[in-house]
Amino acid sequence: MVRLVILALTGYLGYKALQKVLPWFWRPQIPPQRPQPEVRADELVQDPVCKVFIPRRNALVARKQDQDFFFCSEGCRKKFLKNA
Ligand SMILES: [Zn+2]
Repeated sequence: MVRLVILALTGYLGYKALQKVLPWFWRPQIPPQRPQPEVRADELVQDPVCKVFIPRRNALVARKQDQDFFFCSEGCRKKFLKNA
């Protein structure tokens, strides 16, 4: 019975040690570079209400008929949602 415990313990420790050592041989691949979302956030979008252009990341968004509309302010957004 004691032998079984020792066997389990060495097995566990061996497994732990392997976990520490393995990454040295098995280096994780560098993840592919993803397109930076900031670039897209910087593009200009037009407010359909007051026709002003605003950076996308500063714009308020309203979704209508599967299309995104961007607004400079909450006032424009409300006006658009009321009219259309
Ligand atoms: Zn506006």
